[in-house]
Amino acid sequence: MRPWIEEYFVGPLQMRCSVVTNPENGATIIIDGGDEPERLISWIDDWEGLGPDDSNGPVSHNQSEQEGLPKRHVVAYTNTHAHFDHSGMIPELLKHWKVPFWLHEGDHHLQANAQKSAARWGFTVPPPATPTDEWQDGQTYDFSGITIEVRHAPGHSLGSVCLIIPDDSGPSHAFVGDVLFAGGVGRTDLPDSGGSWPLLKQSIEEKLFTLPDDTIVYPGHGPKTTIGTEKVSNPFVGELAQSFTNVRGRYI
Ligand SMILES: [Zn+2]
Ligand SMILES: [Zn+2]
Repeated sequence: MRPWIEEYFVGPLQMRCSVVTNPENGATIIIDGGDEPERLISWIDDWEGLGPDDSNGPVSHNQSEQEGLPKRHVVAYTNTHAHFDHSGMIPELLKHWKVPFWLHEGDHHLQANAQKSAARWGFTVPPPATPTDEWQDGQTYDFSGITIEVRHAPGHSLGSVCLIIPDDSGPSHAFVGDVLFAGGVGRTDLPDSGGSWPLLKQSIEEKLFTLPDDTIVYPGHGPKTTIGTEKVSNPFVGELAQSFTNVRGRYI
């Protein structure tokens, strides 16, 4: 199966919300439903509105019909972590698609405090959604034919996970939240998050840099990259890394 992946940069923090669909049956998961719920709903249901910023699949209703793609149906919210920019609008999405919400247990505290976290940055989010299911490190899950391997990667937050989705026609796709960025790493100084630079560095080295070099990396903010690129060029981890003791990343 070749997953159909759409990327939406949403909200004031331009968080990457990824929408992954099994083109064989229309099953769809939403990775990090952080903002702009109406944009997601109108495009996924009706091909109306702004749509995604990037896609490896059809970009119009006509094209989808020509390719014989079934109508989409959302089956789960699958989160990399619980900072409000990644999970803040799941309550709005839940009004439309009442499906399970997956999160690692280590981020339950952060999720419960979403309104407080958002207020610190001057943003408002609804009362937070309650996770229904917990990721386990090293487990592989099946969402109607969409396979996800979960790697727990704490350091930016206690419950951060990387979601690895295989692709029969090419390299795998790694949705890494705010663990690793193109040329950067996640912040480790955010309140209520349990951040730690030594832990984050260890997570990147043990959980991400052990993936094949051609694995496509979808960070929570900014451009895509690959594992191989970051191994040789990231200034904080990998071959070029200096000895940093106090790293401060850019993104929430
Ligand atoms: Zn973020
Ligand atoms: Zn974050």
